[in-house]
Amino acid sequence: MPIFAWLLSAAAPPVLALEIEFDYTYDTRGFFTDLATGAPRVDRRALLDMAASHYRGFTDTLSAIMPAEGDQWSVSFLHPSLGGPGVTLNDVAIEADTLRIYVGGSPSAPGVLGFAGTGVNLQATGSAAFVDAVMTRGQLNTTGPHASDYATWGGYIWFNASNDWYFGADAAGLSPGSPDFLTTATHEIGHILGFGEADSWLAQIDAGTGLFTGTASLAAYGGGVPVDRYGSHWAEGTMSERDGQMQETMMDPSTPFGERQLPTALDYAGFADMGWQVSSVPEPESALTLLAGLALIGRRASRAGVHRSDTR
Ligand SMILES: [Zn+2]
Repeated sequence: MPIFAWLLSAAAPPVLALEIEFDYTYDTRGFFTDLATGAPRVDRRALLDMAASHYRGFTDTLSAIMPAEGDQWSVSFLHPSLGGPGVTLNDVAIEADTLRIYVGGSPSAPGVLGFAGTGVNLQATGSAAFVDAVMTRGQLNTTGPHASDYATWGGYIWFNASNDWYFGADAAGLSPGSPDFLTTATHEIGHILGFGEADSWLAQIDAGTGLFTGTASLAAYGGGVPVDRYGSHWAEGTMSERDGQMQETMMDPSTPFGERQLPTALDYAGFADMGWQVSSVPEPESALTLLAGLALIGRRASRAGVHRSDTR
């Protein structure tokens, strides 16, 4: 079919970009859904998509998880709204280059903004290719003390609804009493992408000095990078550059209320060191414009202080 072949060759090459699908099945306590009407809270959901856009420069090829006859897989995780027993997924299909993240929220004690994970008891049976797709998404050397890459099916995020969140796209609307939802969402997605969690992350923390010594991070920071005492974040207050300005890294343990901290050069270097192919740092300008009309201005309470961005 010459014409078909010509069309194919004329088409632009596919632009690989990490897709993150948010699933609201377990948003049972009204964080992303108006429970009275069943309508989605579109401003909050749009901010999740904006958070995911900070990872669209990751160009890894991830195998699809498509269960065929004889294939089975499952994973369990906390209910993302803490509104029921734990969740077990069975034989869910996930497209290539795509992660699925189940989200929800509920009120809890103040001080914690949210938490995220990839679940427990990940199991797969069936063809070798299917099992590989579930366990590694086709990435190589993802486990053990010498791991150099990472992949996941997706994960879950719970948000603490007791916070006076700022649900705006424009950082100019932030007030001192409010944690920034966009910052927390982007941070929690980072944990699902393996930050502070992946074997390939842990493999690069020097046993002697306790510093993170991945090649890209060494270059971005100018030396070994301090991490928190659990090895799950950069150390509190670690600085790097974003848009030509120094700021606190996004993947340190906390963000002060009233501040926005999106990924810095060092944050992206950390992801590159754990095996993500970080091709560029996308700027979601169009999304910002789109969201400007949807932004809600949070109430202007005047609590102050630094609060942990999550439980880890
Ligand atoms: Zn964290």
